[in-house]
Amino acid sequence: MEYIQAHFDAYNRQYFGGQLPAIPIKLSHAKGFLGKVTFMRKRQGLFRGYRNEDFVLRINVRIDLPEELVQDTILHEMIHYYIAVNQFQDTSTHGRLFRAEMARINKEGNRHITISHRLNEEQKAQAQIHKVRAVAIVHFSDGKTGVKVVPKQEKHIRYWHKMAQRRFPIERIDWHMTDDPYFAQFPSSIAMKIFIIPKPEELPVGNLTKSLE
Ligand SMILES: [Zn+2]
Repeated sequence: MEYIQAHFDAYNRQYFGGQLPAIPIKLSHAKGFLGKVTFMRKRQGLFRGYRNEDFVLRINVRIDLPEELVQDTILHEMIHYYIAVNQFQDTSTHGRLFRAEMARINKEGNRHITISHRLNEEQKAQAQIHKVRAVAIVHFSDGKTGVKVVPKQEKHIRYWHKMAQRRFPIERIDWHMTDDPYFAQFPSSIAMKIFIIPKPEELPVGNLTKSLE
């Protein structure tokens, strides 16, 4: 939420001259869209037409997206907001006006905003369902540190904790329930397999972890 708000504010200054009014932000877990701006079209008396009000910006957090795509999604929705809050008429949902603003921001900011509200195949492959994982940070007696992701049911955590201490020279196991997408790269199981995290100075390029059976 803070991330979306901070980026909304920064992009508002950067691309919209700070002219967009504050908008309530909500996180969504729905399927089928990355972001959405909703509002009410309210009639203004008998002959004065309609006015768009009660705006809400929704950003989907069901899946963990690459950061650049999250940013482009925020910008995409801000273009919808810019058009609607100024009561501009576009030729369609992503009409001439939308595309002109999109092209302007893509050029100014070297961004890759598209008119799609969905993920393409490559993005789908990169995306991870956003979920909470039970993560063991294992401190070995020799000073090494390892990571293991275990199914988050208590019985699995207890079992794995007990068996790992029998099997390996372990000083301490710290457990975390975390939704940090970093841990999506580790298989979740009760196998007695711990991924050693190399010390920064040993970190090979392009290979984050090695496994200890
Ligand atoms: Zn759109």
